[in-house]
Amino acid sequence: MNNSFETDLPNDISRAYAVIHLDRARRNTEKLFSLCGESELMAVVKANAYGHDDKSMAKLFESAGVKYFGVSSLHEAERLRESGIRGEILILGYTSPSCVNSLAVGNIVCTVVSKEHARALSSAAENCRVSVRCHIAVDTGMGRIGLREKSADNYVKEILSVMSLPSLSIEGVFTHFSVADSDDEGDVSYTENQRKLFLDIKAGLASSGAKLQHFHFLNSAGGTYYPDNESSLARFGVMLYGLCPNYSKALPVRLEPVLELKAEVAYVNNLKKGSFVSYGRAFCAPHDMTAAVITIGYADGYSRLISEKGEVLLHGKRAKILGKICMDQLMVDVSGTAVKVGDIATLIGDSITADEVASWYGTIGYEVVCGISKRIPRVIMDGEKVIDVLQY
Ligand SMILES: *Cc1c(COP(=O)(O)O)cnc(C)c1O
Repeated sequence: MNNSFETDLPNDISRAYAVIHLDRARRNTEKLFSLCGESELMAVVKANAYGHDDKSMAKLFESAGVKYFGVSSLHEAERLRESGIRGEILILGYTSPSCVNSLAVGNIVCTVVSKEHARALSSAAENCRVSVRCHIAVDTGMGRIGLREKSADNYVKEILSVMSLPSLSIEGVFTHFSVADSDDEGDVSYTENQRKLFLDIKAGLASSGAKLQHFHFLNSAGGTYYPDNESSLARFGVMLYGLCPNYSKALPVRLEPVLELKAEVAYVNNLKKGSFVSYGRAFCAPHDMTAAVITIGYADGYSRLISEKGEVLLHGKRAKILGKICMDQLMVDVSGTAVKVGDIATLIGDSITADEVASWYGTIGYEVVCGISKRIPRVIMDGEKVIDVLQY
């Protein structure tokens, strides 16, 4: 044990756990508020708040002044309502028309992904005698959800026709940038074109007298590199958690990683030269060495693709992963160190960031934190104090 709070944890937690630092998230939120200008900050807490525990994070964000929340499903939205979140909740992706009643009960806003979807939502809402609050997605270049038309005028015409459907209450229109995190010249002009098209649609709707509260297009990368009062909401996800949308461009604010992933040393093994480690005999000791067995594996969301590439932190030093990562355990080289059973290894934290872990197997930090499985208890801390220990 190398941290004092760990002695206070329930016995069965130390095997492998994530520490979620609320104080860091609070400071990140304050910094992102400072980037928002006139845009309202929407905290995106989909996918269990990128693995950080959605209920804990949403409560923290709401207490820090956040009034808008973004999720990706009705279930995620309902979890927020269950935990007492009172702010507006927008489901950023598709919602089945069969959910209209639940949407109304939870006062949850859904996204219209296409004209067909709008019609189906409208008739389902009429049948249930409810009104459904919606934002309309428009595709300006992401190639994902949203109305897709040839000209700004056509977008305006189609949005007006969706707005005229019964039992839908259309409150906003939004789009999503696909390369706002890049400083490549072509990408920059692509983003500018997406923005221009969106603002043309906004102007067209205004001149046709349509009354809409929200027009928004900023995500973390957009809100950081293209702050813009034209976007009524800045939809911040990854940066709230202290991860960076793109390394090639410096961030204007210093953020702190909110999550640490830790696991315990179960066994310290003296390996003779020529002995093998793990499945497939992929690693053979080139000389006598010491290996530690750490109680975390791919079933915890620590990808097997990291085998033989990754490192973990033990006693403040990096230890290389030896051989294949197993479902529940992995082995690291601790030759020449005083590592002993019961020590705690840090797999993700301040020194080895989720972005670095991602780089070992060709993905992004987002996937690393989202992938931390439900087997991992989340230890919610505020400063030095343990607030909660969540076992899913
Ligand atoms: C996930 C998501 C976001 C948040 O993206 P980050 O890059 O994490 O800030 C914003 N808007 C939409 C539509 C999303 O789906």
